[in-house]
Amino acid sequence: MIRAHLIRTLEVDEEIFASVVQYLQQFKGEVEFVHHDEPVVMSGKPKRVIKKVDDDFDVQEEFLMNKLCDSEIRVKSVDLDFDEVNAYPWEKFFDLIKTFRKKSNQEEIENPLPALKPEQNTAPQDNDHVFILTYQANTEKWFVGSEAHSGRNHFIHLLYWHHYILSEPVYPVAYHIMSTILKNETFGDITKYLPLTHDTPKGCMMDMCWNKTDVILKLRTADICPDCMLALADQSVNRKLLNQTLKVFDHVRSQVLFRERFLALQSYPHLVLDRKKGELVFPELSNLKVKLNPLELTTYCFFIQHPLGIILSYLPDYFEEILAIYMEINPHLDRDSAMERVSDLTNPLSNSVSEKISRIKAKLKNMLGEEIAQPFIIQGPNGGLKKIEIPRDQVTYLHLG
Ligand SMILES: [Zn+2]
Repeated sequence: MIRAHLIRTLEVDEEIFASVVQYLQQFKGEVEFVHHDEPVVMSGKPKRVIKKVDDDFDVQEEFLMNKLCDSEIRVKSVDLDFDEVNAYPWEKFFDLIKTFRKKSNQEEIENPLPALKPEQNTAPQDNDHVFILTYQANTEKWFVGSEAHSGRNHFIHLLYWHHYILSEPVYPVAYHIMSTILKNETFGDITKYLPLTHDTPKGCMMDMCWNKTDVILKLRTADICPDCMLALADQSVNRKLLNQTLKVFDHVRSQVLFRERFLALQSYPHLVLDRKKGELVFPELSNLKVKLNPLELTTYCFFIQHPLGIILSYLPDYFEEILAIYMEINPHLDRDSAMERVSDLTNPLSNSVSEKISRIKAKLKNMLGEEIAQPFIIQGPNGGLKKIEIPRDQVTYLHLG
């Protein structure tokens, strides 16, 4: 069993972070992904500021890395969303990870939880991988970096992926987390696998990716070439890890391809509502799953049942119907507790339902992308009818029980 801990810097959107972790957790196998709620703060002065108009931003930094880093991705970040970003040296990110490791282990010593089994202990062990997801740039403008020698501390820059590839950041980020684990676990150190990287792109995880088109190729093929497969086998690659990595790669590829085809065909995927597991499932997207909590799922099912739409302030009129959905999803909950939660959801003075609607929207957008998510989102004018546009013959309920 390999464990990978995911943390984020403070400015990273909580929903995007949660989507990345939730996505990776769908692939069961050798690697277990551990979600850490509490963000870490990047402090100290940045080494430089990279501006949107910065002429030198186009210029790729030739990084004399002293075998310092994972040569994964060297994409130019030409178009920025932010006017400027702070750029820090790589060590800054690794220092944050080291502090996180120390702090988590300290907390565990101070507050031992004897009831937990060792594998439920969430503090990272020395051999565990830790990934920090960040919007903070690094001075060399790389997307992915791994600490040399340890091969266990990594950062991933979250911005700008969508400039290079037709997908939400979730997919390229998940891809690179898996490939980083596979490479470091198998070869041990960057010095071992650096000679294997391909300068000429092949659509292999070992591609250097000198420019934008290379990344697109890499994600569209999301493969490991025969040479690299042999190299992995020579190192007695962990088969379970390799299988899990390939499953993620295949899934990422199908997401990227679906988006490309969608632009041409404009046909929306079907939706399956799995109320038992609390998931919205998209079969045409290789069974992509979007997890909702019980109240979010209740809200979603209710709007699916009302194709003409509902005005939020009329929700109290639907109390019984919503309660029935909620209790069906939560069969073990007693009626009083269920009523309490549904009362809050339908209370016109509380913000509860609007919060649920916007969380569902964020989850769908993170996983499906802005355009494909459109007809699945609960939306409508303020104070007016809110509805889900997708034709109901494209929606299937998975039976409970
Ligand atoms: Zn290769």
